[in-house]
Amino acid sequence: MNQEEKEHIFLFSIDLEDVRLRVKNGLSYRARVEELVEDYLSFLNTYNAKATFFTVGDIPKHYPSLIKTIVAEEHEIACHSNMHIPVTSQTQEEFREDVCRNKEHLYNAGAIELLGYRAPTYSVTKSTPWFFDVLSDLGFRYSSSVLPAKNPLYGWEGFGECPKKMSNDLWEIPVSLRKGSIFKVPFSGGVYFRFLPFYLIKKSFEFHFKKNKAVTSYFHPYDIDLKQERFMHPEINDRWVYNQLMYYNRKGVFPRLKKVMEMFEPTIMTYKSYIELLNGR
Ligand SMILES: [Zn+2]
Repeated sequence: MNQEEKEHIFLFSIDLEDVRLRVKNGLSYRARVEELVEDYLSFLNTYNAKATFFTVGDIPKHYPSLIKTIVAEEHEIACHSNMHIPVTSQTQEEFREDVCRNKEHLYNAGAIELLGYRAPTYSVTKSTPWFFDVLSDLGFRYSSSVLPAKNPLYGWEGFGECPKKMSNDLWEIPVSLRKGSIFKVPFSGGVYFRFLPFYLIKKSFEFHFKKNKAVTSYFHPYDIDLKQERFMHPEINDRWVYNQLMYYNRKGVFPRLKKVMEMFEPTIMTYKSYIELLNGR
């Protein structure tokens, strides 16, 4: 790649999961994932862009044709665990077993080549030193599982914010963080993308692009869902305030994304294409 051109690279990814499946009586709520994926696909098509869908193993069971739909449009399918259990809550053997099931379900549903893995809730820390060895052993080429700062949930302070080669040439591509404040937060997805004032989002994209750093992201189906019933989301320890944030400004996601596209004209890229670029440098 020509460094002088300062191409703005935006690694667009969706953590493809159905949160209903992790809450009590969840199946009594509307099944929304297919329609929401269509909304993301339509957004991506506007820019003729390809993205990475980090997909949980139980998705094909509930939406049997969804993987094929995504693959048919030439987007990348990658793994996001089978049961969405944080890596820190598993033994090495349990983790390996979970990833194998995840792969099996996705391949059976039509995935073609699974090269990437994202840990649920970026739950890879110093306490899981075997994590990269297991992924590499199972044939993965990259991971996007580290939040390289202190964080209320997980986080690996000191990991560094650039892509790094780990076990056997497997790349870790940590999530992009907002700079210049006490708290470093992953601004480019989830709650933070919806909640932070837009000028901070804009500044964060600008900061990365000026330094020729790719911006990574992690959107979810629920981030854009305006029709889902309200329920307590999983993995937030029943905190009411945080649950309010799970529903905050969902209608703002696409308008904000469109503004980012207009302002910076980034190249949206899959993680798979990005590691090819990194390996070629
Ligand atoms: Zn997830």
